[in-house]
Amino acid sequence: MNSLVEPGELLDNELQESKNGARVLIIFGPPGSGKGTQAKLLRDLLKIPHVSTGDMLREHTSHGDDLGVNAESWMRSGRLVPDATVDRLVEERLAKADCATGAILDGYPRTVEQARSLEAMLRRLGMSQLVIHLKVDYTKVIVRIAGRRQCPQCGLLYNLVANPPKEPGICDSDGTPLVIRDDDRESVVRERLETYERQTRPVLEFLAASGWNVCEVEGSDASPAEVLERIRDGVVLR
Ligand code: ADP
Repeated sequence: MNSLVEPGELLDNELQESKNGARVLIIFGPPGSGKGTQAKLLRDLLKIPHVSTGDMLREHTSHGDDLGVNAESWMRSGRLVPDATVDRLVEERLAKADCATGAILDGYPRTVEQARSLEAMLRRLGMSQLVIHLKVDYTKVIVRIAGRRQCPQCGLLYNLVANPPKEPGICDSDGTPLVIRDDDRESVVRERLETYERQTRPVLEFLAASGWNVCEVEGSDASPAEVLERIRDGVVLR
């Protein structure tokens, strides 16, 4: 059984399994750990889609469809949207043609139930998996999230301190005014961190016990580019 692996170790089993098939890279970590940022860097590097459950849910809420209206109240209060809703969104997305060579999963699985569903899903789709766990210090996370801004158009993330836009309040890529996400207010951030501790952290132990490769990367003491380098040092990316 393979379990936690340190950066630098070759993931032979995982490499073997994924030689001919598609691979899903799962970016795991608490809110504000840099999952979205790393997922976008990995998407550009590997040329495979970035599948973010948070972004997909926000897209539904902005369209005001049934799924979005149902999801909104959970998201606003920092709690998790019901498993069945998110499971369906992810499976439909991974089954699309652009994920045929793989995908980067960001924000899923977030509960042990979701991890079980993902396991079955990947089996059905014939995909292998690799988990990258971004470890962070919570005090840094709270400061980070407070300075977070996002482009509502293209989804690019900025930070007022670490990664500000060239022109204040405006997206570098498409000129759209940046926004603060509703759930980035401090009280909601604390609730999200508690939700993470209660429901999401146990997923890591479940995955390791199920034999999934989990690569641990320290994510709170370095720039996004440096964290990406650590990921590249720790796992073999195709
Ligand atoms: P963060 O990782 O910074 O919390 P996300 O954009 O991934 O931000 O998620 C925002 C919110 O969307 C979560 O707080 C939760 O309410 C909802 N959400 C996202 N992914 C899931 C999921 N896999 N299961 C249930 N709810 C989810």
